[in-house]
Amino acid sequence: CVKMKELKEYVRSIPDFPEPGIIFRDVTTILQDPDGLCLSIDELRGKLQGLDYNMIVGPESRGFIFGVPVAYAEHKAFIPVRKKGKLPCETVSIDYDLEYGKATIEIHKDAIKPGDKVVIVDDLIATGGTTEAIAKLVESLGGEIVKIVFVMELEGLKGREKLSKYNVDSLIKYE
Ligand code: IMP
Repeated sequence: CVKMKELKEYVRSIPDFPEPGIIFRDVTTILQDPDGLCLSIDELRGKLQGLDYNMIVGPESRGFIFGVPVAYAEHKAFIPVRKKGKLPCETVSIDYDLEYGKATIEIHKDAIKPGDKVVIVDDLIATGGTTEAIAKLVESLGGEIVKIVFVMELEGLKGREKLSKYNVDSLIKYE
């Protein structure tokens, strides 16, 4: 890619979305610029250079957007994590707490086998609850998590503390 500007400059910040007091970090403005899209994927790939892994696991829907191009470019497998009821074959599932309420996510049982080396990719870490749930799913199937990479990290929510036993990295940090 041609680096026209820093990746952070492509992110649009929307105050009071989805509710008052929250600043929403919008990745659509990275994606809608070909240089932004290219840079985001290149920088994610850069965080994985020299790493021994065979698959990327990403949650719907923005984990797909960033995870699949990286997996394609690095010639790795991509394993989707989905909301309950979407995957057609036998799954393992986990419930986890959201800021308000609960969610359930699932992964195909035969998608990960003992010995698989997994990288988790998602757009953003806030509290880390989503990623912690994904990590538990991966490990319940015998996968080893070698790294977790995010495009953006909201440092003030201390999601990293929840993921302290993992190798965690992000491209853009916000307080
Ligand atoms: P966590 O489980 O609290 O870490 O929340 C992370 C999930 O919430 C990610 O999958 C994000 O897609 C979503 N999320 C939370 N805040 C934002 C934001 O400001 N922009 C985009 N996505 C967000």
